Amino acid sequence: MSSYDYDLFVIGAGSGGVRTARMAAAEGIKVAVAEKSKPGGTCVNLGCVPKKLYVHAAEYGAGFLQSPGFGWQSQAPLFDWPTLRDNKSETITRLNGMYTEILGKAGVEMIDGHARVTGPNEVDVAGKRYSAERILLATGGRPSLPEIPGSEYLLSSDQIFDLPELPKRMLIVGGGYIATEFTGIFHGLGVNVTQIYRRELFLRGFDTDIREFVAKQMRESGIDLRFNCDLKQVVKNADGSLNVTLKDGSNLQTDLILAATGRVPNTENLGLDEVGVKLGENGRVLVDDFYQTNIPSIYALGDLIDRMQLTPVALAEGMTLVRHLYKGGAEKLDYSLVPTAVFSKPNIGTVGLTEEEAIEQYPQIDVYSANFRSLKHALSGSSERVLMKLLVDPATDKVVGAHMAGEMAGETIQGIAVALKAGATKTNFDKTIGIHPTSAEEFVTMR
Ligand code: FAD
Ligand code: NDP
Repeated sequence: MSSYDYDLFVIGAGSGGVRTARMAAAEGIKVAVAEKSKPGGTCVNLGCVPKKLYVHAAEYGAGFLQSPGFGWQSQAPLFDWPTLRDNKSETITRLNGMYTEILGKAGVEMIDGHARVTGPNEVDVAGKRYSAERILLATGGRPSLPEIPGSEYLLSSDQIFDLPELPKRMLIVGGGYIATEFTGIFHGLGVNVTQIYRRELFLRGFDTDIREFVAKQMRESGIDLRFNCDLKQVVKNADGSLNVTLKDGSNLQTDLILAATGRVPNTENLGLDEVGVKLGENGRVLVDDFYQTNIPSIYALGDLIDRMQLTPVALAEGMTLVRHLYKGGAEKLDYSLVPTAVFSKPNIGTVGLTEEEAIEQYPQIDVYSANFRSLKHALSGSSERVLMKLLVDPATDKVVGAHMAGEMAGETIQGIAVALKAGATKTNFDKTIGIHPTSAEEFVTMR
């Protein structure tokens, strides 16, 4: 019999925490999870899920506008924000219930409240102490906003999902995933959007051709996209609108500002200082290959360790940890060739090296690309195009990177990622018969 209340005490019922708790409980481990907000964490409540529902909503808007070319005759459609917002909330409440049920059925004990580590084997939740052989920190991250005069007028992504009403004009600050996705969403819902990014070209870290292509497509769709442009200060006007001064001295008027300027690990009031858990750059918790911190009984994973802030990565880290601790050992997680998508308009899907990275790592790189208008847009009246790229190491014929910008890029790249993970060569791609007529077939016809 263990002398502890639990074998494993998980702090945070988000993507990583829930998966770890559920899998550990399935191995007969006595597990508790403390959650201060709603089960499901960022992804379910304030991230992937509500975001993707809003992406779909925005796509309907474009679909209506493009439908006359296909023979549909309709009045200009009216969009009702409260319907979308409230239907989204209903779906999420249902998901919260499902998470609670799944954890309950797995035998995991849920404890409501803010948890704090009070010792290597002890956690405090709302004044009550629990002991555990091991503690897992899975508290995720939170938005980080720029500190400027008037920063009280900036909203983060946490506050954007439940706006009482849609603004007419909106300024989106940042050039990463969240800023670019929400620019597409709100533009698609009929808001007049300006997106600003502080350096030369947004989506730093993605393939340069893809970044330039997406910027061009976004501008052609009517988005005011400005680079080398940053906030200096914000002042509220008498009518409630916002007067924004930019660093170049110019001004713009807007109704709402979303600052999507990155996220920081959630270590606030977690007791890590007192227990001596080591933190790295940006406040991330430092762990080894199997998510153990410098305190042997304390582990951490997900956004809190900031390796890749993606739900499937947090899930994979959780599964690796359970195999390592409770299933007789695990191989360390391979962070190479992790596919990812930005649900911007156009979507971006990517796996492997960018052209810039490939050129640095290989003596020679062959670049194959296709830039085309999909069949759908022959009738839609839209100028949307698709860009695809394959990067090949000619010495081995291996495909080392695949990139796409265009409709369904995320869906397409998921399959390509399996091929790359299996070590696919360009010859394998060439020998694969295409599915016609699709955009994806271009990946097997590039010569
Ligand atoms: P989280 O899911 O953030 O869970 C942490 C949990 O811990 C939270 O529920 C929090 O309330 C709880 N908590 C924190 N502190 C305490 C405490 N002291 N006591 C008790 N509970 C505590 N990823 C994708 O892969 N695809 C996407 O499309 C995508 N879209 C996103 C869109 C947005 C707007 C955002 C913000 C993120 C998105 N992400 C996406 C990233 C994804 O949501 C995260 O990578 C993922 O949720 C990380 O999981 P986690 O378990 O580390 O943390
Ligand atoms: P990102 O790190 O992707 O982007 C942050 C952006 O804000 C960058 O363009 C950065 O510029 C800019 N920035 C940072 N600080 C400032 C500042 N003080 N003033 C002005 N601009 C600033 O973070 P996000 O917040 O967009 O998203 C967080 C993470 O969540 C992502 O990295 C991703 O891992 C995950 N996510 C995943 C999604 C998906 O899978 N589809 C969707 C949404 C989020 P610079 O380039 O100069 O640093």
